[in-house]
Amino acid sequence: MILIIKNDKKDEVGKLIQWIKSQGLDVHMSEGQNTTIVGLIGDTSRVDIDLISSLDIVESVKRIQEPYKKANRKFHPNDTVVEVGGVKIGGDNFTLIAGPCSVETRDQIVGIARAVRASGAVMLRGGAFKPRTSPYAFQGLGAEGIELLKEARRVTGLPIVTEIMNFSQLDLFNDVDMIQVGARNMQNFDLLKALGQSDKPILLKRGLANTIEEWLMSAEYIMSKGNEKIVLCERGIRTFEPLTRNTLDLSAIPLVKELTHLPVIVDPSHASGLARLVAPLSLAAVGAGSDGLIIEVHNDPPHALCDGAQSIRPEQFDAIVGKIKAILPIVGKK
Ligand code: PEP
Ligand code: MN
Repeated sequence: MILIIKNDKKDEVGKLIQWIKSQGLDVHMSEGQNTTIVGLIGDTSRVDIDLISSLDIVESVKRIQEPYKKANRKFHPNDTVVEVGGVKIGGDNFTLIAGPCSVETRDQIVGIARAVRASGAVMLRGGAFKPRTSPYAFQGLGAEGIELLKEARRVTGLPIVTEIMNFSQLDLFNDVDMIQVGARNMQNFDLLKALGQSDKPILLKRGLANTIEEWLMSAEYIMSKGNEKIVLCERGIRTFEPLTRNTLDLSAIPLVKELTHLPVIVDPSHASGLARLVAPLSLAAVGAGSDGLIIEVHNDPPHALCDGAQSIRPEQFDAIVGKIKAILPIVGKK
């Protein structure tokens, strides 16, 4: 972090240096004719940049080091591989997760689980608690939905991932394999802190309008409390384009993989909101270096209780998997 000191205040810089040193940091001074620069040396992730900017003697502040440490690839050069019920996510693994937006009935979830497993999915998704825009829309089956997911796991052997909305629900998630933090909760900091104290793998979706740095800071929240089993999920961000539900930020995939050692997967279903775009976006995600995909698959999309328009049928999922298998060797994944 670099501080530029106001020219008429440079006589007061001694006190600031003392304070910086009292925070366990070192300083490097550079006094030019017109500008005095103070470089902070050490772990500046705990330094409050807004507080420093507001000091009377400081003209401006520039961060050199990213504010996240545990998630930062600089301090952890190797890819992290997260294990979920025997399934590996990250490294040279490509992981396919599929299932309906929400769990509806036993037949529905077990049938879809069987179908996607036969095509190559290694994990089952399904929402039991649904964050819906309208309070009148189907809100999910709640605890019963989690029981049905466990039943589908018992039948197929697929580990399950499902979304938590509030930390008071944590006990209900004791027996799920991976907990999803949805886009709308990416900055629910109390939830992130609570999940940091759990030992469950977390699927952390990018917020609807959040920057990559904010997303990584949310991962840092969980990691700072001790849970480092995090998989990031790019699911599209809100832009000015109304023809798709969101805009898939493909550049985020290679960029985030540069910045962090955590695995990154893509959700092409929420990214576009359109079933017919799921195949091309899936292939694009593979090409961009994604560590996996999470795809909404429904046996009867027109009658789905949630997100039918973006849900593909099992046969369409099967066709996508065939194409993905063909390109995986090119991107060095298995
Ligand atoms: C979901 O996975 O069904 C979901 C609600 O996703 P997101 O949080 O990305 O909107
Ligand atoms: Mn959905």
